[in-house]
Amino acid sequence: MNEELFAIDRAMPANPVEAYLRTDRLPHIWCPGCGIGTTVNIFTRALETSKLDLNRVVVVSGIGCTGRVAGYVNLDSFHTTHGRAIPFATGLKLANPDLKLVVYSGDGDLSAIGGNHFIHAARRNVDMTVVLINNATYGMTGGQVAPTTPLSAIASTTPYGNFEAAFNLPALADSCGAVYVARWTAYHVRHATKSIRDALLKKGFSFVEILAPCPTLYSRKNRLGTDSRR
Ligand code: SF4
Repeated sequence: MNEELFAIDRAMPANPVEAYLRTDRLPHIWCPGCGIGTTVNIFTRALETSKLDLNRVVVVSGIGCTGRVAGYVNLDSFHTTHGRAIPFATGLKLANPDLKLVVYSGDGDLSAIGGNHFIHAARRNVDMTVVLINNATYGMTGGQVAPTTPLSAIASTTPYGNFEAAFNLPALADSCGAVYVARWTAYHVRHATKSIRDALLKKGFSFVEILAPCPTLYSRKNRLGTDSRR
């Protein structure tokens, strides 16, 4: 054993968000450069500053790369079926109104197969916070076009460019009556942290979208950044 290295490790302060994570599940599945991990950091810091009773906070995720978040947070959490995180969370809320429900899922999951649940939960003002990570693609299943993929962007199912306009999800949530709506990027760590904290403390349907990069599929197919390989 390298005693010197061991001494340095022991001297390192604990990561302040470690208590919010199931560290026995690490390392996580996300690719290098993926924005989802940064959003988990943002979310845990928002939880910390919200001062909510963590015994009452429940995280519900659907399917996809973002859907794996439920498995990493050290809270009561549920990894549910594709697109059904919001109705699952609605059921939990109806069964136990004292819970603070957080739905944490991706754009493909929540705005395509789960799109109807999304608009109707906002319309009914179900008391929950939705954190939607938007990477403009279906990451886990191979980079297919999503309702959030920008016009003319390349996806595995639109090799000549997407010909449909992308959803504006904060505007959609707002038009359906959400009490709190925000959009940030994974780069805006402090702003997004404050925003999620504010959303968590609202009564009613609150919505925070975080735009996050998917370098493995979306960025590569669209030749973003300095790596031009497809
Ligand atoms: S495929 Fe994309 S969204 Fe999924 S983990 Fe990799 S970079 Fe992130």
